[in-house]
Amino acid sequence: MHRIAFLGPPGAGKGTQATVLAAELAIPHLSTGDLLRAEAAARTPLGLEADGYMRSGRLVPDAVVLRVLEERIGRPDARNGFLLDGFPRTVAQATTLESVAPLDRVVFFDLPRDVLVDRLSSRRVCPTCRTVYNLLSHPPRVAGRCDRDGAELVQRPDDRPEAIATRLAVYAETTAPIVDFYRARGRLRTIDATGTPDEVGRQVRAATR
Ligand code: AMP
Repeated sequence: MHRIAFLGPPGAGKGTQATVLAAELAIPHLSTGDLLRAEAAARTPLGLEADGYMRSGRLVPDAVVLRVLEERIGRPDARNGFLLDGFPRTVAQATTLESVAPLDRVVFFDLPRDVLVDRLSSRRVCPTCRTVYNLLSHPPRVAGRCDRDGAELVQRPDDRPEAIATRLAVYAETTAPIVDFYRARGRLRTIDATGTPDEVGRQVRAATR
């Protein structure tokens, strides 16, 4: 059983590492951001409620996120564990998760703010297959097009400068205290997330063994 979460500020590389580790461990990679964006794209009542918060970079209310997450971890493919990326983001979410499906390992991606701003503002994503690119460190082969399916790459609305500032402020205020929550329970491992994806990946593997 692997119940793992990646904690850290937006832009730390959690999604990139989660895709790789989840495949290695054969557990689903659950990104609450992706789950909420899918709800918003499908225009479900829950997605419509979440959309305004997401666009401006504020947190979606706990009750909404918890509903989406609990439904997802209740599915059969999550029976042997899961890798959470972007959840928990508040101490209330962490506390609820403890009573539903306690995590056995939490990896904290640590890195300085200026690196985060650079990474977020140069991020582009494929709207079709969700592959993530970085215009500086991991550009697509053909400018503006996904390597896998040729779709036109887009910038997430919340990767624009105003929303980045909000997201980093929200992170410092509400999400950073969760680090202490898991440290106090002896389940936190901190890694230096400034390196290349391969360097960070080695630390992630060591932290989750
Ligand atoms: P992400 O893709 O993880 O950067 O999430 C994008 C946005 O989705 C965040 O800025 C929030 O608006 C929302 N979101 C994702 N996960 C959570 C969560 N655990 N709690 C509250 N809001 C969330």
